[in-house]
Amino acid sequence: MRPRDIEFARDELKSGDQGLRLRWLGTAGFAIEYQGWVLLIDPYLTRASLGRCLLSSIEPDLPTIRRYVAGADGIVCGHSHFDHVLDVPAIARFTGARVFGSTSAVTLCRAAGIAADRLHDVQAMGDQSEVRLELGPFELRFVPSEHSPLLGGQVPYPGDITDCHQVPARMGDYRCGAVFNVAVTVAGRTIYHTGSANLRDDVSPSIRDIDLLLLCVAGWTATPRLVERLLSKVSPEAVLLSHWDNFFSPIERGARLMPAIKLPQLVDELTRQSADLRVGTLPLLGELVL
Ligand SMILES: [Zn+2]
Repeated sequence: MRPRDIEFARDELKSGDQGLRLRWLGTAGFAIEYQGWVLLIDPYLTRASLGRCLLSSIEPDLPTIRRYVAGADGIVCGHSHFDHVLDVPAIARFTGARVFGSTSAVTLCRAAGIAADRLHDVQAMGDQSEVRLELGPFELRFVPSEHSPLLGGQVPYPGDITDCHQVPARMGDYRCGAVFNVAVTVAGRTIYHTGSANLRDDVSPSIRDIDLLLLCVAGWTATPRLVERLLSKVSPEAVLLSHWDNFFSPIERGARLMPAIKLPQLVDELTRQSADLRVGTLPLLGELVL
């Protein structure tokens, strides 16, 4: 099964017709737009090549970022690996957006010159429990989570970003930091974002019924019983798969499936757990109206 075989049809999700739109930016990145407000989650448009990532420090690709991001009011960081936060300081700088994330994400942004009053350290606020914040029409719930142990049973680049004297930094300098799954409630809809394919069994989000689960595919096979455990915490109407694309490939080439990611088996697992669950993907930069 190729990803395009399970794309959502436009009318497949209940449309509230209230102007709530969700756009997939590639990797775990999304833009949620409602009544002129824009919330970004894990936006990573630069998509540096593997060679560049391995051999040198990585810089945000500003022309590409500006081509696809017109503005933002808030940016949510699920964790601080490069494919989630590399572009965040640059976007915060030209949009004036507030940034919500771990101590590591905030440290990175502060080192890149973003004013402290626009940075919100949800790790420090929560002390291992859910943090609820508001931004315009968006209600945000940060649910402490874990990263998938996708690198031979280990989390890649573990630990925190503590020293950013040299931004731009190399791939491995983007330490994982604290990890959050994030529920976004807006216009009566709740969207639940997982930036890595894992969760914490000892933490339950305060909202269970959700309209759309944004499920990270990368690393799902390394996390025992991921689908069963996740669906015991949240009950989605539909699942949009993300982070299945090869993010070393530039955005203009469209989404190409990451090798060995076993996406069809994940779809089978989801529908085995919940037979009437709608599961889909979007094309790169594709949109849903919710
Ligand atoms: Zn990661």
